[in-house]
Amino acid sequence: MENRFNFIRQPIEDLLYLFFPSACVACGTGLVQQEQVICTTCRFKLPLTNYHKWIGNPMEKHFWGRVNFEKAIAYLYFGKETRVQELLHHLKYKGRDDVGTYIGELYGSDLKRDHAVDDVDFIIPVPLHPSRERFRGYNQAFMIGKGISEATGITMRNDFLLRGIASTTQTKKTRFERWKNVEEIFYTEKTEQWKGKHLLIVDDVMTTGSTLEACSRALLNSADVKLSCATIAVAM
Ligand SMILES: [Zn+2]
Repeated sequence: MENRFNFIRQPIEDLLYLFFPSACVACGTGLVQQEQVICTTCRFKLPLTNYHKWIGNPMEKHFWGRVNFEKAIAYLYFGKETRVQELLHHLKYKGRDDVGTYIGELYGSDLKRDHAVDDVDFIIPVPLHPSRERFRGYNQAFMIGKGISEATGITMRNDFLLRGIASTTQTKKTRFERWKNVEEIFYTEKTEQWKGKHLLIVDDVMTTGSTLEACSRALLNSADVKLSCATIAVAM
């Protein structure tokens, strides 16, 4: 019985589409029906870094002497007033969590095709401070990780690395120290499940690398692990 109305549903969808076309998040032109999130032109003009094919790439060099990453990779070059900036702006400030999943899937399928993450055991999204996650409604790094996970088949875990609430020692601190601590802290849980594994830390943009470094320190202080990191964009 459900299919009875198919003959009318399609024209209604077409009609709705005529009046409310979705726009490409990168350039703003209307998407045609087979396109998702970004238009075909923008998709083929994405400034790929191909860092995953490049041993000793600039991002890896950036971390030399700071963190020992197996791989440090980014999907796209970031630039001001570019498609990539538009993508990230929609993901971070316009409630478009689907942009994260979609771009994560594109990246994940490239990584899988090129066997770049074959030995990774878990995807670890950089946690967002809980109050900011409540405000935004989602963690953009989680959405990107979800896309990469779907494309590669690698399990994502967001319960190994956490941010914000260091409960035990905080009560003794002054209010300012507590606030500062809450802003900055990363901590780990369930160590027994990930010690000795290869973890891929995922974030949206890498600029100074200080967030990725702080995450790495928290993980390395808890257990012996192999670490890699991947971001959607790199701006160094
Ligand atoms: Zn476009």
